[in-house]
Amino acid sequence: MLITTLAGLNANAAVDPNFNYHVDRFADIEVLRYEVPEFDRLTPDQRKMLYYLSQAAQMGRDIIWDQNGRYNLQIRQLLEKIYTGYTGDRSSQDFKNFETYLKQVWFGNGIHHHYSTDKFKPEFSRDFFLAEVAKIPAVDLPLAPGQTPEEMTATLTEVIFNPAVMAKRVNQDGTQDVVATSAGNYYGEGVTQAEVEAYYNAIKDPADATPVSYGLNAKVVKDKDGNIKEETYCLNGLYGPAIARILYWLGKAKDVAENDRQKAHITALMDYYITGDLKKFDEYSILWAEDTASDVDFVNGFIESYGDPLGMTGAWESYVNFRNNVSSKRTQTISENAQWFEDNSPSDKRFKKEKVKGVSAKVINAAMLAGDAFPSTAIGINLPNSNWIRAQHGSKSVTIENITEAYDMASHGNGFNEEFVIDKPTSDLMDKYLYITDMLHTDLHECLGHGSGKLLPGVDPDALKENGSTLEEARADIFALYYLADPKLIELGILDNPNAYQAEYYKYMLNGLMTQLNRIELGNDIEEAHMRNRQLIAGWVLEHGKKKGKGGKDVVELVKKNGKTFVKINDYQAMRGLFGDLLAELQRIKSEGDYKAGNDLVQKYAVKVDKNLHKEVLSRFAKLDIPPYRGFINPVYTPVVDEKGEITDVTISWPENYVEQMLRLSRDYSPLTK
Ligand code: ZN
Repeated sequence: MLITTLAGLNANAAVDPNFNYHVDRFADIEVLRYEVPEFDRLTPDQRKMLYYLSQAAQMGRDIIWDQNGRYNLQIRQLLEKIYTGYTGDRSSQDFKNFETYLKQVWFGNGIHHHYSTDKFKPEFSRDFFLAEVAKIPAVDLPLAPGQTPEEMTATLTEVIFNPAVMAKRVNQDGTQDVVATSAGNYYGEGVTQAEVEAYYNAIKDPADATPVSYGLNAKVVKDKDGNIKEETYCLNGLYGPAIARILYWLGKAKDVAENDRQKAHITALMDYYITGDLKKFDEYSILWAEDTASDVDFVNGFIESYGDPLGMTGAWESYVNFRNNVSSKRTQTISENAQWFEDNSPSDKRFKKEKVKGVSAKVINAAMLAGDAFPSTAIGINLPNSNWIRAQHGSKSVTIENITEAYDMASHGNGFNEEFVIDKPTSDLMDKYLYITDMLHTDLHECLGHGSGKLLPGVDPDALKENGSTLEEARADIFALYYLADPKLIELGILDNPNAYQAEYYKYMLNGLMTQLNRIELGNDIEEAHMRNRQLIAGWVLEHGKKKGKGGKDVVELVKKNGKTFVKINDYQAMRGLFGDLLAELQRIKSEGDYKAGNDLVQKYAVKVDKNLHKEVLSRFAKLDIPPYRGFINPVYTPVVDEKGEITDVTISWPENYVEQMLRLSRDYSPLTK
């Protein structure tokens, strides 16, 4: 049977060419919107399911705000009151600075930066703030129980303006008490790190092979007698009013579930929210991990623990999504042909697997992002987090394609190509093919690269020691690079142009030799494994390609134009040959456990930075206005209701800007502040 183009030029076949990705820009942030391809192919019941799950997602918004800091909800209400009721000059500097601060607070789900976790520095004056608060009638102020307006104003003014108060949300400096010095709200006031650790050590059983995720849904507090105890997040516990609303919408979603398995994991999740019992959460996680058939899928709960300085309690988040059929076919095709890729790799036969199994990861479209996953979000997820569940029941690894795509589309025209890419034809090729070849590079890396090859009998899997992860990432990356240029991808219908791979080759060399240095401070070496692996590959190819290209030219070289350094690739086919050579060598190093050869490669190519080039890259980036952080607002889902008041279908639209969406969420989805 003929395989039609699966992903070719348009992985994004459903995409509206006039879709406007750009929403807002302030401080170090750009806010984007994302499309939801294939929404139209869903059945009305699936769209209803998306709608109910989206409601459940948004109902948890207040939870993450409170987890991020005990004054966040109060501050949000107060700032929004000032913002919407302001009668002065909206173009005045104080008001504009106030607006920027409010936008930052919305983006951080609280008064700290989502990434650095440092407290935002307000650029508007205390006087402005105090004058505006004074204009609000006392009955409209978000007072805490028993609080006077004066007390509220005094407390919040300090929290907002004094840089020493609640300076960092997550303090990971191990020389300090990280619980007492973190401003997040995962622990009650006055609780110390030693007290939390003693509490959990007393209840953990080290012999338990299937332990629950201790502390995942609890705040550890000190009661009035000084006893340490947990307050559980559940229907009749902490965050109960928000959890009640989440449960209501999960119940609706359960009624339109696609199959019994999905119904079963929604039921288990609801039981867990009702009881707070972590054994129920494990039950749910297993049922969820094993449900690979459902089209519409979601995460809703206390999941990732980066916000807790002790890494135990889950930040509330939700992702609602469904399978991207077009791109999932791509990963499926690659996985089904895993043996062909293994058999045809340039590695020595002794290091190849006789029987190789591709990992099938699915590609999804996000339909709603919420909680800790909003507005800043990941482009891939791999859950559940419990180690024993992953080992015994597997995990789901997903790539969120429409988010990746929005990043890519929004980057066009940001000046990066003009500044760093050597010429127009290369830049045009990247505009056209980088998105698909980037995705494909990730697919090949994840589905095949890591799983290819084998160790010789008796070789210790940890033989490469501290270089293990750098060399492993390099091996998977170069496997992907080598095959990106293979005619097999055209034959399989995955690419439609035999030169498409050149877009990824150019970007990879540019990034590995130059532009990734933007993420490093001047004077530092490269430490992070993925960055090391990229420089290793790019640096090795630069050196080994000297005079090896057609006509005796260098395969790739660094050239100067108007005093600026550029990557110039003279022979793409020869470059593929070099990738093949390095793949064979990296596979040999892994298969034989050759620590010395691996360490030599890492030390020679991966760690050291050319300081002059580094300085140049930093200054060229500084001139471009490329926002360091980006995030999203969500589309709006509107139910179609028949004359009996029943929901029959759901439509999607993007009518809002950032401010409008944030104010609507605060108005319609704030069960903890009403
Ligand atoms: Zn990897």
